[in-house]
Amino acid sequence: MKALEERILKDGQVRPGQILKVDSFINHQMDIPFINEIGKEFKRLFSDKPVNKILTIEASGIGIACITAQYFNAPVVFAKKAQSINLDGDQYTTKVQSYTHRKTYDVILAKRFLGPEDHVLVVDDFLANGCAVNGLIDIIEKSGATLEGVGIVIEKGFQDGGRELRARGIDVKSLAIIESMTDTEITFREQD
Ligand code: 5GP
Repeated sequence: MKALEERILKDGQVRPGQILKVDSFINHQMDIPFINEIGKEFKRLFSDKPVNKILTIEASGIGIACITAQYFNAPVVFAKKAQSINLDGDQYTTKVQSYTHRKTYDVILAKRFLGPEDHVLVVDDFLANGCAVNGLIDIIEKSGATLEGVGIVIEKGFQDGGRELRARGIDVKSLAIIESMTDTEITFREQD
């Protein structure tokens, strides 16, 4: 998505630890007309899929998922980072290592919001090593739902998450794929 690449070049900031800050339009302040274009693009890319639910993880995926969900006429369900897990069996649980905070979270999703009848599009802001998306896929597998695809706003193509997911046959579509980034230069992978 050309407009996204241009916006990253204009407003993105590269931070130590290979972190791209996009706080001014996605992660802190949110540019809603711009995110609306992102939602439309996800709909175009996954228009052949029978999606009836959008799944993301709190917190930064939620806004993007909500706008995207309007184009699919589907509800959003987000996995929650939990302080403690109750073991009464009414929730799916998995573990996710946070890229930005470098710690491992328990993540939960109530069983009544995801089941075998669901066809799920996973949406998130970033794909790096794939921990967040893999945690969501683990929950989908536990629930018996069908994974229809993964829509990512910004993939860091120099990290392994995207390559590994595609190697497993998962339909991952990223609106911008960063090939390399330094303090002074960001380059993108060509996409058709
Ligand atoms: P992964 O789990 O694929 O290693 O990392 C993806 C998750 O970490 C995303 O949910 C995102 O919130 C966060 N993340 C990873 N890399 C970046 C980055 O460069 N910038 C920002 N803002 N978040 C990132």
